[in-house]
Amino acid sequence: MFEPVAHFGLYPFNTFGMDVEAAYFSSVRKEEELLELKNQDAYKQGIFVLGGGSNILFTKDVSAWVVRNEIKGIEKIKEDNAHVWLKVGAGEVWHLFVLYCVDNNYAGVENLSLIPGTVGAAPMQNIGAYGVEVKDVIESVRFFNIESGTFEEYNNEACQFGYRDSVFKRLLKGKVIITSVVFKLNKVPVYNTSYGNIQQELDAKGITELSIKAISDAVISIRSSKLPDPKVIGNAGSFFKNPEIPSSQYQQLKMKYPDMPGYKINETITKVPAGWLIEQCGWKGFRENDYGVHQHQALVLVNYSKARGAQIAALSERIMASVHDKFNIDLEREVQIV
Ligand SMILES: Cc1cc2nc3c(=O)[nH]c(=O)nc-3n(C[C@H](O)[C@H](O)[C@H](O)COP(=O)(O)OP(=O)(O)OC[C@H]3O[C@@H](n4cnc5c(N)ncnc54)[C@H](O)[C@@H]3O)c2cc1C
Repeated sequence: MFEPVAHFGLYPFNTFGMDVEAAYFSSVRKEEELLELKNQDAYKQGIFVLGGGSNILFTKDVSAWVVRNEIKGIEKIKEDNAHVWLKVGAGEVWHLFVLYCVDNNYAGVENLSLIPGTVGAAPMQNIGAYGVEVKDVIESVRFFNIESGTFEEYNNEACQFGYRDSVFKRLLKGKVIITSVVFKLNKVPVYNTSYGNIQQELDAKGITELSIKAISDAVISIRSSKLPDPKVIGNAGSFFKNPEIPSSQYQQLKMKYPDMPGYKINETITKVPAGWLIEQCGWKGFRENDYGVHQHQALVLVNYSKARGAQIAALSERIMASVHDKFNIDLEREVQIV
C-alpha cells in the first residue's frame, strides 16, 4: 500500500546494513500513486527516494518520507533491423534487466552485469563498469517532479551524463522520482572485451566465439571473485570516484612514484585509480572495531557487523585527508551520505 508507515526500519533496504529508521516509509508500485504524495501529511517531512540502497550510507535516522521505488515492467516500444527500444520500470532490479537482455540477445548492457540496485538509479550516477557506461544505451528518462506534481521526460542529452554523474545527481537532486527509463539496445552486438580482465577470463574458460552471454558470464565471474558480497559484508561498492587530475600533475607524481597507474582522458586530463592511491597510503585491509577497508579492494569500505554509518563516514574523511597529504589529490565520494 502507498499509505506511509511511521518508524520504519531500513536495515534490510541498504547494502551497508545500517540499522536506521525512516520517519515514514512507502513502496510505490504505480506511477499514478505519486500523484497522491502531496495529499499525505508525511509529505511535509520531505521525500527521499530509495532504490536498492546500494549506493547510500545512512549515518542517522531519516527524517524524510522514504519512498521506495518498486515500479516494474519491461515493454518493447519500438524495433528496427538494428535496434530495439525497451521501456523499463524504475523499480526493476538492474541485474535481472541485464539477464533479460542477455536472454533475448539484446546487446549493450552485458558489461554492466551484476551491478546491484534498480534500473531507476542507473541514470542517477550513470553506472559504469568494464569500459561501458549506461549513458551509451539510454534513450530517455521519465520522472515525476515532486514539487510541480507532473511527469516529465528527458532525452539523453538533457540528462547531462558524465563520469558517475548526471543532472539527477546535481540540479534535480532530491527533486524528482525516476519512474522509467527507455534503453536503445543493439541487435547486432559490438563486443567490448578490452577492459579489465574480461579477455583473460574468456581465454581461461576456453571461449573463442564471443557472445553477449559469454561476456555477461565472464563479468559475473570476475565480479563475484573480486567484490565483497553485501549479503556477507556490508558495503556499497566503490566508495570513491577515480580522480581526474591535470596530466602535468600526473607526470610530476609519476617521477616520484614510477608505478603510479594513469589513464589519459584527453590531452590535459589523466584519471588515476583511487584504489591505488588509498593502498599507497596504507589503508588496504585496515580494520577498527566493526568497520574498515576491504582487504582485497582498497576502494571498498566495509561494515563487518554493527558499525555505524557515522564511523564509516569518518573513516572516509581520514582516507581523503591522507590521500590529499601524500599526493595533493582530492578524492570525491561516489556513495551518497545521508
Ligand atoms: C558490491 C557493489 C558493487 C557495485 N558496483 C558498481 C559498479 O561497478 N558500477 C557502478 O556504477 N556502481 C556500482 N555500485 C553502486 C550501486 O550499485 C549503483 O550506484 C546503483 O545504481 C545504485 O542503485 P540503487 O537502486 O541501489 O540506488 P540507491 O542506493 O537506493 O540510491 C542511490 C541514489 O539514487 C537516488 N535514487 C534511487 N532511485 C531513484 C529513482 N527512481 N529516482 C530518483 N532518485 C533515485 C537515491 O535517492 C540516492 O540518492 C556497486 C554497489 C555495490 C554494493
